[in-house]
Amino acid sequence: MKRIYLSPPHLGSDESELLQDALASNWIAPLGPHVDAFEKEFAQLLDVPHAAAVSSGTAALHLALKLLGVCPGDTVICPTLTFCASANPIVYEGARPVFLDVDPATWNLDPDLLEAELHDGAVNGRLPRAVVVVDLYGQSADHDAILDLCSHYEVPVVEDAAEALGASYKGKMVGTFGQLGVFSFNGNKIITTSGGGMLVSHDAALLERARFLATQARDPAPHYQHSAIGYNYRLSNLLAAVGRGQLRVLRERVAARRRIFQQYHAALADLPGLRFMPHASYGEPNCWLTCITLDPAEFGASREDVCDALQAANVEARPLWKPLHLQPIFADCRVRGGAVARRLFERGLCLPSGSAMNDEDMERIIGVICAVYVQGRPSRSGEQRPRARAAVI
Ligand SMILES: *Cc1c(COP(=O)(O)O)cnc(C)c1O
Repeated sequence: MKRIYLSPPHLGSDESELLQDALASNWIAPLGPHVDAFEKEFAQLLDVPHAAAVSSGTAALHLALKLLGVCPGDTVICPTLTFCASANPIVYEGARPVFLDVDPATWNLDPDLLEAELHDGAVNGRLPRAVVVVDLYGQSADHDAILDLCSHYEVPVVEDAAEALGASYKGKMVGTFGQLGVFSFNGNKIITTSGGGMLVSHDAALLERARFLATQARDPAPHYQHSAIGYNYRLSNLLAAVGRGQLRVLRERVAARRRIFQQYHAALADLPGLRFMPHASYGEPNCWLTCITLDPAEFGASREDVCDALQAANVEARPLWKPLHLQPIFADCRVRGGAVARRLFERGLCLPSGSAMNDEDMERIIGVICAVYVQGRPSRSGEQRPRARAAVI
């Protein structure tokens, strides 16, 4: 049986030709016509004026925090339920993350906790330098609520939309809500350049500074002159060519992932104790990963049981992100709440969601989950077992 991966790359038809063009032009450098075109096409798609292509989502986040003036001794707010790359760049700048719990209705940053944290910060004269807000697993955070609070306290927002390209919030594309927005084109994301990222903003000066810092901070002089510490963070022209091809199929990739979510939902939603990540009514997720939680008492088997069974069927599935306040590296950071994220981590599972999956793949995965459920039920006479609908797909 071929292995089914969680979220493998899915190339379209144009990448190879675009890459060939980049090779033939000899622009084999962290700049060139494909980088310029990729930035322009990306900005158009998102309806933002400025986009800078960089070597990773993490690099984009690092630049964003630098541009907002994050310094040693500062604090920066970040949701605890996310990938470590949302918070690592805070530490690169010598600042401390403060982790906030997530809202069980969206799995994203809880605006009530943000309000409490900002209120206390204002009272104590220690407001955070910035807020990193994440659009988790392709679902938008509640940006209006978050931006209202942050503008009231004059704290800038970086939107980590690494997982959410193509998702929307109240009709607008995510990634466009903070002072700066960040995307990733890592191999497991909804579109990929193998590795890469994008920084977007409405503020031309901020992005000009980002480009400057990302290309070794070269002052305008005939010799190499530097008055700031820079980085080598720009995206290769070769990879930008791949990115342009991927951008052309983004709509189809989002549609495919949404369809996969619907298929899982249709087949599994009736199983007792199995719940899907709730979809908030304020937006349209890109369904980057379909995520479920399992209540072992109701479902009759644990998340580990399901994970092991999928593994045995050569299917990759993974627990949700381990909350950052539970990570050894962030053990001494402050956290407000945390029980919601911890519980999601204990019970949550990401199911394979690659846009190239076919019905046969879906049947294998759904069949395994249903089989674990059925095995977990001690069959008692008279008990009506809800019928798994796997066969319908
Ligand atoms: C993938 C990811 C990143 C980092 O992106 P890279 O391109 O891998 O550096 C940051 N934040 C979140 C939420 C991610 O999922």
